[in-house]
Amino acid sequence: MHDVHAYAAFSATDPLGPLTISRREVGPHDILIDIKYCGVCHSDIHHVRGDWGGVTYPVAPGHEIAGVVAAVGDEVTRHAVGDRVGVGCMVDSCRTCPSCQKGEEQYCHHGATMTYGSVDRDGELTHGGYSTHLVVPEDFAVRIPDGLDLSVAAPILCAGITTYSPLRHWGAGPGKKVAIVGMGGLGHMAVQLAHAMGAEVTVLSQTLNKMQDGLSLGADHYHATSDPETFKKLVNTFDLILNTVSARLDLNAYLSLLAVDGTLVNVGAPSEPLAVQVFSLLMKRRSFAGSLIGGIRETQEVLDFCAEHGIAPRIELIPAQKINEAFERVLASDVRYRFVIDISTLKK
Ligand code: NAP
Ligand code: ZN
Ligand code: ZN
Repeated sequence: MHDVHAYAAFSATDPLGPLTISRREVGPHDILIDIKYCGVCHSDIHHVRGDWGGVTYPVAPGHEIAGVVAAVGDEVTRHAVGDRVGVGCMVDSCRTCPSCQKGEEQYCHHGATMTYGSVDRDGELTHGGYSTHLVVPEDFAVRIPDGLDLSVAAPILCAGITTYSPLRHWGAGPGKKVAIVGMGGLGHMAVQLAHAMGAEVTVLSQTLNKMQDGLSLGADHYHATSDPETFKKLVNTFDLILNTVSARLDLNAYLSLLAVDGTLVNVGAPSEPLAVQVFSLLMKRRSFAGSLIGGIRETQEVLDFCAEHGIAPRIELIPAQKINEAFERVLASDVRYRFVIDISTLKK
C-alpha cells in the first residue's frame, strides 16, 4: 500500500479538504499512474453532496484523469512507463457478461466498479483523481494521443465520452438536426463533437450569454430557453436532443421540439423524477432515452476523434485548494467550460 495526497469530501455539507489515502500495490495486470490533471465534473458535486444517495465518506472524487504511467505490473502489455494515459469513470468490471463482452462495461450486468465511491475487488472504497496517484487494471486506462495536451485530454474522459456515445448511437451526422441543451462542461463538448460529425447543431441555453462561444465551437444556431418564443419557433424540429442539464427541466416542452421519430436523450442526471406526458411521445412517435458514459473502447475512440478533428475542451486550470470555489461556480453555471485541477498543486 502507498499513501498518497488527495482532496476529499468528509460529509455532504463540509467543504472538501486534504486527506491521505492508500493505493494498493501494483498487481501483475495493474499500472500506477502519476496523475497530472483531473477535470471537475458536475457528477462529482452530485455525488459528494449526496444528491444520488449512498455515499461513504470520506471520498476523493474525480473521474477525468490524465497522467503518466509510473510503474507497470509484470504481465502488463498495453502500457509502458512514461506513456500518457487517461482514466474515466470506471476502474473495473466483470469482463465476462454480455455488456462487458461487447465493450460496454458501463452497462456491466454485475455493476462496473466506478472510479470513486465504489467497492473495489479488495473490498476497499475507490477514490478518484483528486489525488496524486492511482492504481488501475491496465485495460481500464486509455492512451492519450500525441496531439492532445494532458490538461485538455482530462475532461474528454467523462464530458467527451458521455456526449460522444449517444451522438454516435443515435446517428448524429449529415442531414440530422441535433440540439444540445445546456452549454456547460458536457454541452460544450457535445457542440464540438456533433459539429465534427456533420450534424446541424443548435444550442438551447438558459440565456444568450454564451452565444459567441457556442457559435465559435461549431453551433449553427443558438437560442435562449428563457424566451418562450424559442419553444414556438422550434416546435417539431429536431431529430435528436441531448439534454445535459444537471437540474429538472419541463421535459414536455423539450419533447415538443422533436420531429417525427425524434429522440430526446438525457445525460444530465438530476436526482428528482421528471414528468413525461405520454401524449408528448405518442403524437409524433417520439422517444425519451438515457445514456451512461461510454465503454473503454469508445473512450479511446473519442480521444482519437478529438485529436484528429482538433477538438478540445475549453478549460480553466485551478489549484486543488480552489476546489470548493470551483464547485460553487459550477453550481451557478459560471464555468467556461470545465475546471481542471493541476495536480502538481497537491504534491507540494
Ligand atoms: P455543468 O458544467 O454544470 O453544465 C450543466 C449546464 O446545464 C449548465 O452550464 C447550464 O447551461 C445548464 N443548467 C444548469 N442548471 C440549470 C437549470 N436549473 N435550468 C436549466 N439549465 C440549467 O455540468 P456537467 O458537468 O456538464 O454535467 C451535466 C449533467 O450531466 C450533470 O447532472 C452530471 O451529473 C451529468 N452527467 C451524466 C453523465 C452520464 O453518464 N449520463 C456523465 C457525466 C455527467 P446553460 O448556462 O447553457 O443554460
Ligand atoms: Zn463525469
Ligand atoms: Zn460485466
